Amino acid sequence: MKILVINAGSSSMKYQLIDMTDESILAKGNCERIGIDGHFKHTAGDGRSCEYDVVMNNHTEAFIQIKNALIDEKVGVIKELSEVSAIGHRIVQGGSIFKESVLVTEKVIEDIESLIPLAPLHNAAHVQGIRACIDVFGKDVPEVVVFDTAFHSTMPQTAYMYAVPYEYYEKYAVRRYGFHGTSHRYVSARCAELMGKDIKDLKMITCHLGNGSSITAIDGGKVVDTSMGLTPLDGIMMGTRTGCLDPSVVTFIAEKEGFTPSEMDTLLNKKSGFLGISGVSSDDRDVCAAAEAGNARAQLAIDMLEYHILKYIGAYTAVLGRVDAIVFTAGIGENQSSHRENVCHKLGYLGVEIDDKVNAKAIRGVEGKISTENSKVDVFVIPTNEEIVIARDTMALVNKA
Ligand code: ADP
Repeated sequence: MKILVINAGSSSMKYQLIDMTDESILAKGNCERIGIDGHFKHTAGDGRSCEYDVVMNNHTEAFIQIKNALIDEKVGVIKELSEVSAIGHRIVQGGSIFKESVLVTEKVIEDIESLIPLAPLHNAAHVQGIRACIDVFGKDVPEVVVFDTAFHSTMPQTAYMYAVPYEYYEKYAVRRYGFHGTSHRYVSARCAELMGKDIKDLKMITCHLGNGSSITAIDGGKVVDTSMGLTPLDGIMMGTRTGCLDPSVVTFIAEKEGFTPSEMDTLLNKKSGFLGISGVSSDDRDVCAAAEAGNARAQLAIDMLEYHILKYIGAYTAVLGRVDAIVFTAGIGENQSSHRENVCHKLGYLGVEIDDKVNAKAIRGVEGKISTENSKVDVFVIPTNEEIVIARDTMALVNKA
């Protein structure tokens, strides 16, 4: 069975065609700058590739580029479109409606649309992606939606409520949802596999550290708390996002500077975090390089990030009552061994002991344990793979149907 995995953004659409017999990637690519001008990139599993500028006015036109590339004589990987058995879509916000992946129906599309106020850019783009997919592939190809929030739906109410008047929870569904759920789900399951234990018996803290970052406490395979909230702005400091702060900071700056809610939104989401503190870049690599060269604000940004990670691990250890494993994943978690080292060296009180040499080598796609045999907590680096989770869920639901 060949499954097409789609991640539709407002101006981009990433895809992977996966052969489920061995879970190999047959092709992957990205349509960028949809509705602006348009750039298309496609790479087959054997390295054949193409890249060109092409006007894509909307998601349907982007899908036509994907379709053409998949069956192209030179860079294609299938003979006919009918070889694509099903399509799986990543959806950011499933609200309180979707607690697991589901097959797409008109009602499901309407429900995703109803959640647009909670994730305006993302969910609107996802709906466009699903509809474009139906336009190009037809109604007979089954589609499945996999939600970033679903894995977090097990959180107890004490963890997901905000202490604002209850009526806003009732009126607008204002609460913590959490994001990156597909990634936390993948790495936690993989961690249990690597430990050779049943996930039901494990208490874990998974750290997804990328451009956007979140940390999750998982008890017996079920999320009990996560750092991102109503939107992906809460939690630890990120590339351009603040992470958690005293809400008064928002009203104080807005009043002083005369910013509108929308201007404040841009400040908190796009101008803060690594970029705002260092003044250098939102990218961890650039900030680390600047710190190395003696830039004090870049060093401060790094120290703050590591401090935030440390605080969440401490808080979630208290929530879980014990911690068996800590997992690092995503761009920074998988590649920047210095952050892992600095954080883990401060976790001696939990009995964490990592092997610095093994840790330094666990970069660029390496999967494995970085803690020593003496460590009371197993610490892993596990490259995340959200696409494979989407493809597996899609296959399971299609087979069941
Ligand atoms: P996104 O949240 O956009 O998916 P990623 O998970 O790709 O982001 O993470 C992006 C971050 O990971 C950037 O800050 C980048 O500096 C860092 N990163 C990615 N690759 C490397 C690498 N090889 N070495 C160090 N840092 C890396």
